Amino acid sequence: MRIGIGYDIHRFDGKRPLKLGGVTIPHARGLAGHSDADVLLHALADALFGALGEPDLGEQFPPSDPRWRNADSRTFIKTACAAMRRRGLAVGNVDTTVIADAPKLTGYKRRMSRAISALLGVAPGQVSVKGKTTEGLAPGKAGIAAHAVVLLTAAQGSRLKARGRSRGR
Ligand code: MG
Repeated sequence: MRIGIGYDIHRFDGKRPLKLGGVTIPHARGLAGHSDADVLLHALADALFGALGEPDLGEQFPPSDPRWRNADSRTFIKTACAAMRRRGLAVGNVDTTVIADAPKLTGYKRRMSRAISALLGVAPGQVSVKGKTTEGLAPGKAGIAAHAVVLLTAAQGSRLKARGRSRGR
């Protein structure tokens, strides 16, 4: 088993659509960033890379690289998932918290969880998206932050192998 933690924060930018967890959420302001600025997927990508012991998101997809300008952040998750599968690992579960005073996320949490689970190829029950406000304290007014924790377990084939070994002992 491997565990990973990820965190990210982005400022509001009035000129962009708001993307959270791969879902476009109607709001007056989106988030500033080199890619599509999906703060939740960025936290999740860093949690996955962290669990794998790989370099962080900023190192693998530097904002200085024009290739990632306005990039769909789902690409980062797909890259992390490919690395995970190469290691014979699978997502056990994901727990996340989005910290935003606005917009209200209540109506979108389930949709974000479904979008993330589809992206990871797991059941929606394996992905938790929780919402939190800052009760008006900074930086909640200026942008959105996200935390993510992932637990990776041996993929099914590798787990069977591991069981076989322990039975032989
Ligand atoms: Mg980011």
